Amino acid sequence: MGEREAETEHFDVLVVGAGISGIGGAYHLQQQCPDKSYVILETMDGFGGTWKTHTYPGIRSDSDLYTFGYRFKPWTGPPIATADEILDYMGEVIDDNDIGRHIRYSHTISSASWSTGDRRWTLAVTRTDTGEQVRFTGDFLWMCQGYYRHSAGYTPEWEGMDRFGGEIVHPQTWPEDLDYAGRQVVVIGSGATAATLIPAMAADCGHVTMLQRSPTYFVARPNSNEMADTLRELDIPEEWTHEIVRRQILHTQQQVVQLSAEFPDLVREELFNGIREVLGEDYDVSPHFTPSYPPWRQRLALIPDGDLFHSIAAGDASVVTDEIEEFTETGIRLKSGDHLEADIIITATGFELNVLGDIDFCIDDEPLVFSDTVGYRGMMFTGIPNMVWVFGYFRASWTLRADLVADFVCRLLHHLDDRGASMVTPVLRAEDAGMDLRPWVDPEDFNPGYLMRAMHLMPRQGAHDPWRMSQDYWADRHTIPTADLDDGTLVYD
Ligand SMILES: Cc1cc2nc3c(=O)[nH]c(=O)nc-3n(C[C@H](O)[C@H](O)[C@H](O)COP(=O)(O)OP(=O)(O)OC[C@H]3O[C@@H](n4cnc5c(N)ncnc54)[C@H](O)[C@@H]3O)c2cc1C
Repeated sequence: MGEREAETEHFDVLVVGAGISGIGGAYHLQQQCPDKSYVILETMDGFGGTWKTHTYPGIRSDSDLYTFGYRFKPWTGPPIATADEILDYMGEVIDDNDIGRHIRYSHTISSASWSTGDRRWTLAVTRTDTGEQVRFTGDFLWMCQGYYRHSAGYTPEWEGMDRFGGEIVHPQTWPEDLDYAGRQVVVIGSGATAATLIPAMAADCGHVTMLQRSPTYFVARPNSNEMADTLRELDIPEEWTHEIVRRQILHTQQQVVQLSAEFPDLVREELFNGIREVLGEDYDVSPHFTPSYPPWRQRLALIPDGDLFHSIAAGDASVVTDEIEEFTETGIRLKSGDHLEADIIITATGFELNVLGDIDFCIDDEPLVFSDTVGYRGMMFTGIPNMVWVFGYFRASWTLRADLVADFVCRLLHHLDDRGASMVTPVLRAEDAGMDLRPWVDPEDFNPGYLMRAMHLMPRQGAHDPWRMSQDYWADRHTIPTADLDDGTLVYD
């Protein structure tokens, strides 16, 4: 191309990503700030984010859709939903609210620059459908890019991987034509992904083995909600049912979080009982299902109808707790000396956390060092004007926070207009100057591998509000809506 100026379009608000956060953000913006123009830029050729990227067998949510669904759109299906059901639900939100015309698919943002002189963000974007370079400018940037790189998952390097004669597959990039009928499959990992894949594949495989270095807590539960069923029998409107069941689930979850902290042994025993219900009273849970950490230090994986345990009981699946010594031509040699034969090895080993959607950020021509910033309520950052990001909960559904952040953005946009300001930047006050700065997530509190590997790239949090990154929905639902926007930590211009 000659030196033709890239085409530039301007919007009041630029939303990055058409996942559950970006689509929810658009809904709230239309409802609460109907005069604001906005665009959603999405690198994929469709909406859904996580639920579009992941196509492995059985792909489903691991939290219930009454709370993972939006607060404004009733969920009418079983609590744990498949990716297709979630995509249908999101599609209805898009259609019912005419959000589709605001989304630009196949638009990959590579850089974001803030100019104080112009009071705006400029995004450099590549259209992956046409190869064109285009530009968008906006007054406010709403980062709904999720927390991991969608293009590829995380696979550790093991000795001998190149000599393995079968196929190695990461669930995030599942080959459409993978034929596993009658084959010996080893799934490395014991998180929600492994627990989903195994029952979905088990009946068709020759045998599937879950190979884990260390155990995970699982919650085996029927995929139904008694209260929802009763309310529906009584012909209660779905809006009410959604709200009541949400409150019930949130109440129970809060109790479980508190119980886990105060009486971890009791909670642990309850979780084991769910497993023994399927595998038998005498089943020894200690080698494979007894983690060394207390319950709730990592996300509890929900097993709808105990399907993982039914596959084990049927003899289609088994668990091995050991470490990998090396890959061989025909499988995996373990540190114990045992050998697992495999035709296919699936590395359910997690994600690559990506900070800010792999977008290069500049503030007034200075490259942004994100790890030097301090988070304001976990959603804005010192020295970064007019930008909010959505980083959801680990112990509660992500969308609960996406809804709260959306309300905050809308309130802040109104506040800017009311003050006649065009710029808002979080700034540490004099009294915050000596504050102890901590990692974005306290490793003592929550420590999955994907977070620990990338913690040095993340912003930091402070020792007191509003600089703490709360992972407590039950506190946030009161503090975020009532946050004082004039407490001196947000500077307007
Ligand atoms: C398999 C799996 C299951 C999960 N299950 C649950 C669950 O049950 N409950 C729960 O609470 N959480 C769950 N999570 C966490 C989950 O990612 C979030 O809950 C939620 O879906 C995140 O939504 P999001 O819109 O914030 O981000 P994402 O779903 O990650 O979507 C972000 C979007 O932004 C786009 N994007 C990113 N960077 C750019 C760029 N530079 N330019 C343009 N577009 C960009 C991406 O393409 C993507 O479409 C799960 C995660 C995975 C991987």
